[in-house]
Amino acid sequence: MNSGCAPSEALLLVSPAMLIMKIHHIQLSASYDIYASHILKNPKWNAQKNKKVFGHCARLHGHQYRAIVTVAGKINSESGMLINGYDLDALVKKHILEYLDHHHLNEADPFFKTHLPTAEWIAVFIFKKLKNKLPKNCKLTKVRVYETPNLYVDYPN
Ligand SMILES: [Zn+2]
Repeated sequence: MNSGCAPSEALLLVSPAMLIMKIHHIQLSASYDIYASHILKNPKWNAQKNKKVFGHCARLHGHQYRAIVTVAGKINSESGMLINGYDLDALVKKHILEYLDHHHLNEADPFFKTHLPTAEWIAVFIFKKLKNKLPKNCKLTKVRVYETPNLYVDYPN
């Protein structure tokens, strides 16, 4: 009877495969321009307070926003990718850009009836809309929204 198949031999057989199958976690970010208008006015405040807090943003105006979505997960062993960029673009187009790009944000979605369309709330909106739409191996980890080239917010921070 061969009792020589000791656990150490079995381990030797498994180890090389495990080295090849090493799981690589990675992060990918993609950037999207969003052209949209908004007015920042808190309906609970009078015109004077809105002007004091929001300045020019209390008037109708537009921005070239930039949204950067970041996903993380395991590299697919067959494709070598975390997510196909075309697939991510299609998801963002369908679930985000269709709602925000070339829209008046105050009226773009019911979310903005209860949340002023600031860069902060736009980032939260994008995160909530997109987080459950990604493939299983991908997790949405961050949404960054630039309101101007010099000002951006991150959600979560
Ligand atoms: Zn503004």
